[in-house]
Amino acid sequence: MRLSGLPISIAEALRVAAGRLDGASDTPRLDAELLMAHALGVSREDVLLGRAGSVAPARFEALVERRLTGEPLAYITGTRDFWTITLGVAPGVLIPRPDSETLIEAGVAHFGSDGPRTVLDLGTGPGTLLLAALDQWPAAIGLGIDASEIALDIARANAARLGMAGRATFRHGDWAKGLAERFDLILCNPPYIAESEQIAHGVSGFEPHEALFAGPDGLSGYRKLACQIPPLIAAGGLAAIEIGSTQRTEVEAFFADSGCVVTCQRDLGGRDRAILLSRQ
Ligand code: GLN
Repeated sequence: MRLSGLPISIAEALRVAAGRLDGASDTPRLDAELLMAHALGVSREDVLLGRAGSVAPARFEALVERRLTGEPLAYITGTRDFWTITLGVAPGVLIPRPDSETLIEAGVAHFGSDGPRTVLDLGTGPGTLLLAALDQWPAAIGLGIDASEIALDIARANAARLGMAGRATFRHGDWAKGLAERFDLILCNPPYIAESEQIAHGVSGFEPHEALFAGPDGLSGYRKLACQIPPLIAAGGLAAIEIGSTQRTEVEAFFADSGCVVTCQRDLGGRDRAILLSRQ
């Protein structure tokens, strides 16, 4: 059933759209609400509380059609919430996942409210971990590195929109190659899916391949990071590196000779999610 041309209430439009999205999305009702909010230029709360005016059927329909092709919701709406901030996202950057908030939680547990003074985010994408950390600790400054110029442009725009342009620097780079200064907190969400998992993993083809996949075994990122990260951790500092939930043993082994205390942090679902390196 299509909506265009029908006089229809928002509630009815949401019901129809959620029905169509069932199967294309794990969260059809939520997606419908967020697409409606985006179509009308209002918040989801406004939609739910009936403060959104009337449906813009053609515009809403077009957004639902895009979602039905498998295009991620965040690319359609152009934003994704992460930790305490809302990030602009677009094709060409990895969409932030809630799992990665585990790395910020590890930083909070390590530094408390004093916080780190300096933060490094390797593979920052749209600025995800760096900008979340700078929002968490308002006195901190930081550097975000990415191999993608598209990502760096989006990250800089996010920093500006969040009022953090003066505290966040973004630079093109191959992970930490060439960096000499040390950082109190190093955050890194590298690609870690094995190429062979591409189909089984069910990742849509919309996100940048290089941000998700890391060689035949999913570990090629860690092989580079193993020698690059430990020397950059300041005394008393922490590195939090995201891992796939089955990679703990292999990734811990990469850092066994790092001179750091190596531990593992679980995500909210109880899965191994980050390797933590702390330096006395
Ligand atoms: N956790 C992400 C996913 O499963 C992968 C992120 C990554 O490779 N860094 O889609």
